[in-house]
Amino acid sequence: MKFGVSYFGNRILEHIETDMRLLKTIGFDFVVHTYSENDFEFYEKTIHDIVKISQDQGLEVWLDAWGVGGFFGGEAYSSWITKYPKICQIDSIFEKVPAACPNNDRFRKLLKTWIKSAAKSGAEFVFWDEPHFYQHFSKGGLWCCRCSSCLKKYKEYYKTDFPLKKSTKIDFFKMESIIDFLSFVTRAAEKEGLRNAVCILPEADEGFLTKIASLPSLEVLATDPYGILFGKPLKDYVKAETRKLQRAAEKFGKKVQIWSQAFKVPREKQKDVLDAMDIPLNLGVDSIAVWGYKACKYISSISSETPDELWGMIEEWVIRNEENK
Ligand SMILES: [Zn+2]
Repeated sequence: MKFGVSYFGNRILEHIETDMRLLKTIGFDFVVHTYSENDFEFYEKTIHDIVKISQDQGLEVWLDAWGVGGFFGGEAYSSWITKYPKICQIDSIFEKVPAACPNNDRFRKLLKTWIKSAAKSGAEFVFWDEPHFYQHFSKGGLWCCRCSSCLKKYKEYYKTDFPLKKSTKIDFFKMESIIDFLSFVTRAAEKEGLRNAVCILPEADEGFLTKIASLPSLEVLATDPYGILFGKPLKDYVKAETRKLQRAAEKFGKKVQIWSQAFKVPREKQKDVLDAMDIPLNLGVDSIAVWGYKACKYISSISSETPDELWGMIEEWVIRNEENK
């Protein structure tokens, strides 16, 4: 069993060295550094230094394709979607949305450049974080994607034209598109010497998870059941999502990773977070990770209510469970 945590928002190497040393001392085994498009464009060598500094402190390093193309999760903007507007998804009213389409070849080529850089850093893992089609949170009923790449691929799959109205066939096509995309990026990363982890948003279809688990270049299947965010009864939610992931992963001998919410946590829910972390521990997953360092104190839009207090509790939890690993 390994424990990990995400780290972002700081590119000052001296501070990173101190923080990485602290994480190792507490008992964390790996750190997930975000590697956004902004980092790739402006901080590439710095990121490579960050990877080395973290490894020198004894941590395994994962690089997260954070917000890349607007297709992966994360609080980071994509510049590719403005530089290469043809990679964007098109929604059901034929409008471009700020996210790249996984079926677009140009987007895939761009990701190959990111993968090469991630590999050059010497990081152990690449973390494919919450790949998803664009969701219209403020406009109900709209959906993606009907770009020309999707239309072409749909015709190849089904030997029929892309339907005008949303259907279960489109939902299935979207899942197949994500699987095909993940097959592509995991293979490309493996070729460059990287190991692959994919984090799928919770409440995913079990058949979908099983197909992802079957990808030959995938090593770790993860999910992030952030129940507090969605107002779910946390322990039940985490238990159900963990078991579902285990069922999918064990068919193909893949490792299971569960993420714990340490952002946007109200003070009265802090104990629930810790109790919920015991569930994957007791169910024997391969790793448990926390989003993110210091309970996200330094990202005000998602900070926990009393981050110092929550982070202190998480530190204690990791120290306490060191021997149960
Ligand atoms: Zn598309």
